[in-house]
Amino acid sequence: MPGESESELLSSGLTVSGPSNGRPRSPCRLSTNHLTVLRHNLSNNSLCSEQTGDEDEQSQPPSPDILPTHKYRRLIDRINDRINAGSKFFSLEFFPPRTANGAVNLISKFDRLALARPLFCDITWHPAGEPGSDSPTSSITIADTMVNYCGLETMLHITCCAMSKEEILGHLKRAKRRGIKNILALRGDPPQNSDKWEPLADGFRYAVDLVKFIRKEFEDYFVIAVAGYPEGHPDCPSYEEDLLHLRDKVNAGADFIITQLFFQAETFIKFVRDCHNIGITCPIIPGILPIQAYQSLKHIVKLSGLEVPSVIMNEILPFKDNDEAVRNYGIHQGTEMCRKLLDSGLVHGLHFYTLNREVGTEQILKNLGMWIERPPRSLPWKTSANHSRCNEGVRPIFWNSRPQSYIYRTSEWDEFPNGRWGNSSSASFGELDDYYLFYLKPRTSKDKLLEMWGTELRSEQDVWQVFTCYLSGRKNKAGFQVTCTPWNDEPLMPETNSMVEELVKINGFGNLSINSQPRVNGLPSNDPVHGWGNPGGYVYQKAYLEFFTAKENIESLRAVLQLYPNVNYHIVNSQGDIYFTNCSGEHPIAVTWGIFPGKEVVQPTVVDPVAFQSWKVEAFGLWREQWGKLYEDGSPSRAVIQNIIDNYCLVNLVDNDFPNESCLFRVVNDMTERKQVEKNGSLTNGSVAETNGSVESTPSDNKV
Ligand SMILES: Cc1cc2nc3c(=O)[nH]c(=O)nc-3n(C[C@H](O)[C@H](O)[C@H](O)COP(=O)(O)OP(=O)(O)OC[C@H]3O[C@@H](n4cnc5c(N)ncnc54)[C@H](O)[C@@H]3O)c2cc1C
Repeated sequence: MPGESESELLSSGLTVSGPSNGRPRSPCRLSTNHLTVLRHNLSNNSLCSEQTGDEDEQSQPPSPDILPTHKYRRLIDRINDRINAGSKFFSLEFFPPRTANGAVNLISKFDRLALARPLFCDITWHPAGEPGSDSPTSSITIADTMVNYCGLETMLHITCCAMSKEEILGHLKRAKRRGIKNILALRGDPPQNSDKWEPLADGFRYAVDLVKFIRKEFEDYFVIAVAGYPEGHPDCPSYEEDLLHLRDKVNAGADFIITQLFFQAETFIKFVRDCHNIGITCPIIPGILPIQAYQSLKHIVKLSGLEVPSVIMNEILPFKDNDEAVRNYGIHQGTEMCRKLLDSGLVHGLHFYTLNREVGTEQILKNLGMWIERPPRSLPWKTSANHSRCNEGVRPIFWNSRPQSYIYRTSEWDEFPNGRWGNSSSASFGELDDYYLFYLKPRTSKDKLLEMWGTELRSEQDVWQVFTCYLSGRKNKAGFQVTCTPWNDEPLMPETNSMVEELVKINGFGNLSINSQPRVNGLPSNDPVHGWGNPGGYVYQKAYLEFFTAKENIESLRAVLQLYPNVNYHIVNSQGDIYFTNCSGEHPIAVTWGIFPGKEVVQPTVVDPVAFQSWKVEAFGLWREQWGKLYEDGSPSRAVIQNIIDNYCLVNLVDNDFPNESCLFRVVNDMTERKQVEKNGSLTNGSVAETNGSVESTPSDNKV
């Protein structure tokens, strides 16, 4: 919401930046204090980020191998790969939002932005905001979410001027535990107007000290970036001296440099040449601030005593009150400047200060042809960017729509299965006690959920209707669109479209589907709907259907299943006293696989009986935690949900006959029909009636 941010900026009480040692500030420089304040004061907007080691490899020209069979590649190596290959990249900076809701919104944005494949995203550090705490809005929590749950290669900023070594060490250790591999090591801004600022006795005075400390304590675990100033840092007596201090940071172990913003390409080009002349050879990535609004620009200039080039100001003035026009100007100006930078041959990557508003950045990148709208998927499910999971190649299908929960529940695993799911009996899933961990909870407010799922439930049929509305896109009886369910926080996957009619039909009879996939028999791996993995391959799927259905349907279902020997099934209830399956032992069934040039068969999704038991608890738990708890304890609505928990079973069906049309909807329809006929007292017509004799025979499944 740019408008809100703008007013927040204006009321943020920005003050003139720190001391400039009596030196007049050069035009164009925005004070570091200002930027810091700005970064952290626009925080009503939400935006955070992500990207995986696996995924960003995908857009590297030298390697078309996007399957997760390689080792984790450090960010600095990937940056150098891009530079050596002449392949452009970009990165995006965000700041932590102020509220937990803001954090949830920001994560949704990350999910979307991740699709465009930033090489990495970073999150700022503001000492005043408890950046190292466990709160949903802390820098570490956001960085953790970006890397683990949004699949974004992540860089955490950390400033040192107000912390002891011990505190810093604690933060770095926690960052490491959470899988963060990249740190932007900064001094930070000392308190304003404090010419005589002194660091803590056991603290650091300059960023170079922090760089040395990180290298001493963590050796090469972290990739370290440092800040560079194309016009010199305002606290430094001279541009030249500041460059020497920058060189010290690189010599102390920094891997690359990200710069302060600037408005003219020439400023950066000169800076890079000057760096080269004093022997700085590491990558230097320009920091780009897309101009978003006149007032904020003017405010920055006024408060920091700096100047934006008059040519830019003069161009904006005629339409300064038209926010959209200014934004468009910012996009134009940003595009032209970036183009010049890229054309200089000195720049391969662009670092955007998004200020949590992605529109300008996205458009600039689109103009430059650097925004990938539909990148290929490395796997059919959403990957994590945690370096320890970069080889992960197989997951149970049950969590396809809840990848965050899967990552959370497997976060303690030492190793992740690659190639084969393996001995599933050893898979132990962590408990999902806290359904309200902010990255696991619905991205929708309680009020909106009630609108979608019903402010009052009178019967099971009210619940069925929510499912049919979600699938069909029709509004519910209160006139609201249903855009999510507890098991599906996102709109339907494109591959579900081909089955929507049949899904709506079975849901209309109370078979409440929560996961499904159509059969696929050898489509090219670049198929826009079903494709994944390396180019030149073919992908396959067995049809899969998972749904809740009333216990009273189960005997009919088991009887009907006798007629479909190609179908594997599991049927369980929440109490655990019903468990029917025709699967043998604990062996998983591959339900998605791919054949790729020069590779073994890749099988990233399985139906695993052991994992299903863990999933079952979560799947029933979601009724209670996310739906039932929307209503008062003891209310009729809560009772409707509880009744479903107590009296429905969770069923999954796999049709192994993938070359032929799937029979799974026929199975469910036959079950419904059979049940209805039974209720009416006779079996008279339809396929069930014709096969009546055989289905009444003893079911051949196992009650486990
Ligand atoms: C890309 C980027 C991201 C940023 N992110 C954040 C953020 O998340 N949070 C935040 O609070 N701030 C952030 N800042 C602002 C930054 O903290 C301030 O600019 C701060 O004033 C300087 O930090 P530094 O790491 O560049 O400091 P340093 O490199 O330590 O430099 C600070 C000053 O000390 C001088 N100096 C360095 N070494 C010596 C020496 N040995 N002797 C004498 N002088 C020396 C330098 O020339 C400079 O003037 C960011 C800035 C940039 C460019």
